[in-house]
Amino acid sequence: MSYKKHIKSILGSNRHVSFELFPPRTNQGLRQIYKSIAQLQKLGPDFFSVTYGAGGSTAERSLDVASAITNLASQTCVAHFTCVGMDRPQVLALLGQLEFHGINNVLALRGDPPQGAEQFVRPENGFAYASELVAFIRENAPHLGILVAGYPEGHMENPDKENDFRRLVDKVKAGADGIVTQAFFENRYLFDFAQKLDQAKVTVPLLAGIFLFSNARQVTRIFELSGGKMPAKLEAGIKKWGEDADAMQKFGTEFAIEQVDDLVSQGFGHFHFYTMNRSDQAREVLQALEHHFPRLRFD
Ligand SMILES: Cc1cc2nc3c(=O)[nH]c(=O)nc-3n(C[C@H](O)[C@H](O)[C@H](O)COP(=O)(O)OP(=O)(O)OC[C@H]3O[C@@H](n4cnc5c(N)ncnc54)[C@H](O)[C@@H]3O)c2cc1C
Repeated sequence: MSYKKHIKSILGSNRHVSFELFPPRTNQGLRQIYKSIAQLQKLGPDFFSVTYGAGGSTAERSLDVASAITNLASQTCVAHFTCVGMDRPQVLALLGQLEFHGINNVLALRGDPPQGAEQFVRPENGFAYASELVAFIRENAPHLGILVAGYPEGHMENPDKENDFRRLVDKVKAGADGIVTQAFFENRYLFDFAQKLDQAKVTVPLLAGIFLFSNARQVTRIFELSGGKMPAKLEAGIKKWGEDADAMQKFGTEFAIEQVDDLVSQGFGHFHFYTMNRSDQAREVLQALEHHFPRLRFD
């Protein structure tokens, strides 16, 4: 069925658009996410992705949302999948659940340490790194499409950036079909990252992670979590509009339009939008760049 496309066939084309959602914790949030899915699917994206276990959300809700996207909205879905708190039999069980729900793509991650824990600890009979999870999924569910996470500015836990980059290459060699980047706010990071991947002869597609922000807190939190330094342009915008909700949203929309426009003009074609479960900003950004995305629909 067309809505159960393998990620490889989607990324085979030179341009794609996808939307990331997170499973909400409240019933109000659940209502909002389904409204957003309905709106976003009208645009004709190539796939959705649903986070797993991030920010204290439950695994059940991730599966519920990913299944609804696949089976009710008839959209291709990539289910995020972490190593947190799971041993090998549990990983196999979750793979079986995904298969049962018709979800045939995953974003394989190590996951963050559980709240309160300082370091990630390998679960007993489980995995310590995403590369191990990728290899296990490749072996036990070879039909699945697999994406992995990439960090243009480096992963915050590894101070040795070259070593961190080699770990990413290992992850791809273990069987990944593509790399989705962490949100970045200066395109030079993506250009350098793409060049390094080229030099390392990594040929799988690189999906630029574009963060759609509508308030100052969302942005500052990203930098708290990633340990990166906020670029001056972003800092200045937050200082100017941070207290004004409408102005800040407009700033977020214009920031993303400019960022994506520049990336397309430099030859990038794969865009994964962090939607924060909203549809309005994604629509505004893509409509402003309609000329770059002729396959999308805005009626
Ligand atoms: C696009 C994207 C989506 C995400 N979605 C989610 C989500 O849904 N749920 C969630 O909980 N989190 C999510 N995260 C966050 C992610 O789980 C964290 O960033 C986590 O800290 C690292 O995950 P990883 O898969 O990149 O880990 P890995 O690739 O395993 O790397 C983790 C760290 O270990 C190091 N390392 C890797 N292999 C080795 C090795 N063999 N020996 C020594 N060191 C090694 C790396 O350099 C890095 O510092 C997402 C991140 C991104 C970019």
